[in-house]
Amino acid sequence: MSKPKLIIHGGAGSSLKGKGGAEAVRQSLFKVLQEVYPLLLSGAEAAAAVVAACRLLEDDPRFNAGTGSVLQSDGQIRMSASLMDGTPQRFSGVINVSRVQNPIDLAQTLQTASDHVLSDYGAAELARERQIPLYNPLTDLRLQEWLQERQENFVRSMAGVVAESAGVGTIGVVALDGRGHLAAGTSTGGKGFERIGRVSDSAMPAGNYATAQAAVSCTGIGEDIIDECLAAKIVVRVTDGFSLEAAFRKSFQEAQSRSRDLGAIGLDATGTIAWGKTSEVLLAAYHTGDSLGDTLTLDEGMVVLSS
Ligand code: ASP
Repeated sequence: MSKPKLIIHGGAGSSLKGKGGAEAVRQSLFKVLQEVYPLLLSGAEAAAAVVAACRLLEDDPRFNAGTGSVLQSDGQIRMSASLMDGTPQRFSGVINVSRVQNPIDLAQTLQTASDHVLSDYGAAELARERQIPLYNPLTDLRLQEWLQERQENFVRSMAGVVAESAGVGTIGVVALDGRGHLAAGTSTGGKGFERIGRVSDSAMPAGNYATAQAAVSCTGIGEDIIDECLAAKIVVRVTDGFSLEAAFRKSFQEAQSRSRDLGAIGLDATGTIAWGKTSEVLLAAYHTGDSLGDTLTLDEGMVVLSS
């Protein structure tokens, strides 16, 4: 039995400094780690722990996933989520689904279905088939944010990803279980104010990917993450023999040289934890098995904790 590891994120974006948000975000992230790490200790599989942590993060209105998702240009919420289990190396997800509480549950259901990724109408049908109750993930704060942006004619490229008050970003979870198995999950309300039909990286291998050797979840501007194919690129580099550190370093140098705005968290099968960012801040926290830590006030672009 190896020592389980867990790393989670709540988005990436501009600085938290001076906004009083860091401590509140830290408490939200630590609470999830403290609830989910014991599941791994008691034998939960990596994919199950990832789903449990994603659900808690989706239910926290502070984050832009599930409850508290940002609104698109037409004032509607459409969410995307994916789960990748590194052991069978299987990706599943939903794209632009509405009116469900936990999009990650649909992604989990699709792990064992014959069709692994469903978009809007198909995802809604699946939710209906599974008798998942209708749910409105809208919060007042997100509505106010959207109304203000509408007055300003949607000039921002992305919604308030980082805690101006309560709103922060997309969520992601990467876990290594006691058997040495890896999984990654990512869930989002999107960038905010986007065109109808825009597809996020979060339910693509570019934003969420795992093999038996490594697992990565990304956040930031989805278009940048897709152009870098960041999660799959880091994971495939490790699978082909790079260390997790070298794979993060090379991939982030490449992203930086193209002025991308993104962040990622990852684990390898030996228990090495890594995270990187080109954005000002990455809201991530981790459990090493011995202690909790976070990246909220980190200035370095990349850090690796050896197993
Ligand atoms: N990557 C997400 C998207 O572009 C947004 C985020 O990570 O906050 O849809």
